[in-house]
Parts: sequence; structure tokens; C-alpha cells
Amino acid sequence: MMANILMINVPAEGHVNPTLGIAKAFAERGDNVHYVTTEKFKERLEALGVHVHLQPDFMKQLKGVDSVLKIMIQIAKDTLSIVKELAEQIEFDFVYYDTFGAGKLARDYLGIPGISSSSSFLFSEEFMKKHGPIKAAQGNPEVERLIREIEDQFGVVVDSPAQFMRNDGELNIVYTSRYFQPDSGQYGDEYVFIGPSFPERKDSRRGFQVETLRGERVLYISMGTVLDNKEAFFNTCIDAFSDFQGKVVIAAGERADQSRLKEAPGHFIISSYVPQLEVLQQADVFITHGGMNSVNEAIHYEVPLVVIPHDKDQPVVAARLAELGAGYTLSEDDVNADTLKEAVNEAVENAAYLQGIRKIKDSFQHSGGVRRALEAVDRFVEEKKQSLGNR
Ligand code: UDP
Repeated sequence: MMANILMINVPAEGHVNPTLGIAKAFAERGDNVHYVTTEKFKERLEALGVHVHLQPDFMKQLKGVDSVLKIMIQIAKDTLSIVKELAEQIEFDFVYYDTFGAGKLARDYLGIPGISSSSSFLFSEEFMKKHGPIKAAQGNPEVERLIREIEDQFGVVVDSPAQFMRNDGELNIVYTSRYFQPDSGQYGDEYVFIGPSFPERKDSRRGFQVETLRGERVLYISMGTVLDNKEAFFNTCIDAFSDFQGKVVIAAGERADQSRLKEAPGHFIISSYVPQLEVLQQADVFITHGGMNSVNEAIHYEVPLVVIPHDKDQPVVAARLAELGAGYTLSEDDVNADTLKEAVNEAVENAAYLQGIRKIKDSFQHSGGVRRALEAVDRFVEEKKQSLGNR
């Protein structure tokens, strides 16, 4: 039976990319998938057969950890107003939501089954409350005002400000494996670990010639799409790898001011955004901030990792990789040209890291993927419909 599915999320690379596999699977079996997001992700979602409903890009206003929660709530509020309009024309069967954003509120507003999905590891409520962005926003009058506006406008109840970064559900899909998830024993069957999936990401922000990397030794460097002020770090990378035998690709981020980067030798390719899946296929080593998606992608393509964690989930991801012998961690405070060079040598030359990576990759491949998610979703929606129908 064809279903009308509402997908909501926060419009960030690290949150949208992990949902592409499941969005594609829903669309391929004939479901109507309606995804609320920004212009940035339109092309890659439409290429999968998904209907896209656009919202303004509140992520552009992101400035430091203090602003994160407020922006999540603004996104949630805007998402709810789009959901309200859509619901006048479409009868949704269920909502599939990211753990960040409007999530449970959209479910409650529509009164339909809701499934939560987590783009990173699962974190306990206690962890999230101590977590930078939520702590930083405590008592912020603007946050409180936005929450009241949401409650008034949509007749829903916000449990706590933290829920905008931790929407759980009766069914939760997690895009990693039980093996990789720390302390996974504490999560019961309502958490389905399916492993990550990597469908092709169509994007016209191209111009990057991945062909130039073929047959070369490739060092890939990225601090993800959210971190700011990494120009000095990239300059240290230019110093450290000025005599690297091969190509060095730096994805500097769309937030970086490239005029603050020093002139780099010809074997460097510096770009604000690169097709990361394609670059990783060619890469021999990856210096990453330890964003969950970058790490999952590197594991999939078996690329040794040097992890320099900054904030959010990154320290936990880095620690878990270290624990499983799958990544070399370098503290942000210890970064200089020498330590970077040493770290890259160690990650490449010590074959134990690759073994650690292969073990995690193996656990991904045995997690069941999107098929398993579809089965769990169908079973859950069926049960929910029966229990809602019997009321
Ligand atoms: N990404 C990309 N090109 C870039 C930088 C990032 O395609 O130049 C993608 C990357 O493949 C990953 C996502 O953006 O899927 C970043 O997510 P991650 O969780 O690693 O970090 P975040 O950006 O959320 O800190």
C-alpha cells in the first residue's frame, strides 16, 4: 500500500545525508515522500524521487554554541507552519523525523504515528542536558518566548527545551551498528540499528575534478560543515604537508574565509565543498573533526582516520574509535605541523587501525540496512493504526 510519508529534519548536511538511503527506499517502493528542508538539499532529494517543501535557511544564522538551540527551535517553528499547510492537502500516514527539530511536536500536531531517527550515536537525556548547546541556552528569554509561541500557535506541549535536540519515539532508527554505539546494551528493541547507507548525492556545486586524484596518494582534510574559524588550522595543514608526496584535498567549509588561507603548493586542492563520498573513495588517509557522518563514510571506504574532535558528539565519536582501535585521536590543543605529520604517518602505517575500521564496517554490513528499517517502520505503523483505530 502506497503511503504518504512526511519527513522532517533540521537542514544540515550531517542530518540530511544519513536519511537519504531511507528516503530513497520509501520512494522506490512507491510511497509519496514529502520532505521539509532548504534549497541546499533540494536537488539531491528530488533525484531520489522525493517531493521537497522548502523552508528558509535558519542554519545561516548559526554563530557559536549559544545560538544552536535557538536556531533549532526556529527551524521547528517554521517546520510546523509548513506541516500545517501541507496537512490541509495531504493525509499523512506517518511522520519520520530526525531527533533534532520539530519531531514529536509534528507527530502530536498531526495525531499520526511518528518514527524518530538519529544521525549520530544515541545519547542519554542526562548527557544532552549537560550538552553545550542546551546548557548555554538555559533561561534564555528568546528561547522561552519561541517555545510559548509554538505552544500557542499549534496547540502542542513542549516537554523541555532539550527536546529540540532529542526527539525520541516509540520506534527509533539509528544509522549505526550496535557494535559501534557506546553502551548499546542499555537500548532495547525500540532502537533499531541499521547501519549507515550512502546513496549517490546529486549536487551541482561541482567543479571539483575527482579524476585528478586517480592513481595518486591522497590526503583528505575536512572539519565538516558547521565548525567556524578553522582558517589557522588549514594554514597549519598547508605547512605540515607542503612536501606531501601526492595530493592534499582540503574541504575548507562554506563558512571559511578563503582569503585568510595562505598560498598553497600546487599539490593542494582547496575548495569550500567537495563531493566527499567520491573523494573518500580515492583517499589514503583522512583528517576529520569526527563528525558522525564523515566517520561512517570513511569506515565504509576503509580510509584510516586522524580525528581532531571539537564539540557536540565529536569527542564521543573520537573516543569510541580509539576504544575500538579504529582511529588516531589528536587533541585540538596539540595540533601543530609536526604532530599532524606524525598522526598521518601513524594512521597510514599502523595496519591495526585498518583492522579496527574493517571490524566496524563489518558490523555495518550486518546491521540490515534500509530494508530492516522499512520492515520495522511498516510493522510499527500497522500496530499503531490498529491501536489508534480501536480507541
Ligand atoms: N560533506 C560533503 N562535502 C564537504 C563537507 C562535508 O559532502 O565538503 C558531507 C559529508 O560527506 C557528511 C556531511 O557533509 O555527509 C558532514 O557531516 P558530519 O556529521 O561529518 O559533520 P558536520 O558537518 O555535521 O559537523
